[in-house]
Amino acid sequence: MTGVLPRTLRLRFDEAALAGNWRALDAMSGTATAGAAIKADGYGLGAARVVPVLREAGCRNFFVAHWSEVEPMLAHVGPGELAVLHGPHVAEHVALARSKGVRPVINSVRQARLWLEGGGGPCDLMLDTGINRLGLPPTEIGDEAIARLEVETLMSHLASADEDSAQNEEQRSLFCQLAGHVAHKRRSLANSSGIALGSEYAFDLTRPGIALYGGVPRPELAPAIRQVAYPQAAVIQLRDLKAGDRVGYNAAWTADGPTRAATVSIGYADGFLRCRAGQGALQFGGAVLPLLGKISMDMVVVDCGVAQNIAEGDWLDIPFDLPTVSKQTGISQYELLTTLGRRFSTIN
Ligand SMILES: *Cc1c(COP(=O)(O)O)cnc(C)c1O
Repeated sequence: MTGVLPRTLRLRFDEAALAGNWRALDAMSGTATAGAAIKADGYGLGAARVVPVLREAGCRNFFVAHWSEVEPMLAHVGPGELAVLHGPHVAEHVALARSKGVRPVINSVRQARLWLEGGGGPCDLMLDTGINRLGLPPTEIGDEAIARLEVETLMSHLASADEDSAQNEEQRSLFCQLAGHVAHKRRSLANSSGIALGSEYAFDLTRPGIALYGGVPRPELAPAIRQVAYPQAAVIQLRDLKAGDRVGYNAAWTADGPTRAATVSIGYADGFLRCRAGQGALQFGGAVLPLLGKISMDMVVVDCGVAQNIAEGDWLDIPFDLPTVSKQTGISQYELLTTLGRRFSTIN
């Protein structure tokens, strides 16, 4: 019932933009099909919200990171559509995967053995081609447990696809070379940035995440990608300041003359981090409302002198064009999304 209680923080979620972004990335993937990374609750936008839109657009391959992310997705994905990137760590993970038709992404010989001991079945296999994070080291590809796997998707992950780095081609060629040593049905290498590197990176399946949600990690993607999330916060109090009045914690801002100020219901606990102070403003219609003083946990104060008609309850726009805000604040586009708090209601 919490959905019906009016909130002072909301996220407009452009479903058409999300679907359009997937279709554009699928088209840019050429003969490969595009999947979707939906880990971290759909990059903070709500996986239960995101997945039905992506399925409707045609997506049938979804990736979460944790096993805790599986259960809430089961009502939304079909059998064989979900894979878990972290792979199984205990027998319970194996049992869950097998009973629900979820594929583990095997990352090590230990995980391969655990999967086979639990009964095995179709799985994905992550090869480490140089990110040195998660994935089977090339030296272990000949292990007998790896040879016994029923590999649906053979994959690797690019470390530097958002840059023009020699590492991209190094990883691609190592991936091709290693693929000759393991039986598999299809190959997958590219994340969002990898799709922009060209058709030789697409293989059979691409795995975009950030670009689905409006991120532009490489300039080539900019023409195709539209903003998906539009946060808005309500004005909860208005006041008239006079010269010398100070605003917020540590009195970090002092009025040098009469100032109309609005207190707004968003703070760092909602992902509006303190480093955004001095780096931008909220907006009302087209009017730009500068931030005054420090950002609090649940509130921020803005100068609404240019919008004297603002009233309590009015909605202000939180700038959220990811590449622009990332450049202004130094917060990565990924972190801007995944730090969005849990106090938003969502609207279309
Ligand atoms: C998160 C992730 C992706 C998606 O990456 P983006 O940069 O968000 O497109 C793809 N593959 C793996 C293995 C991932 O962990």
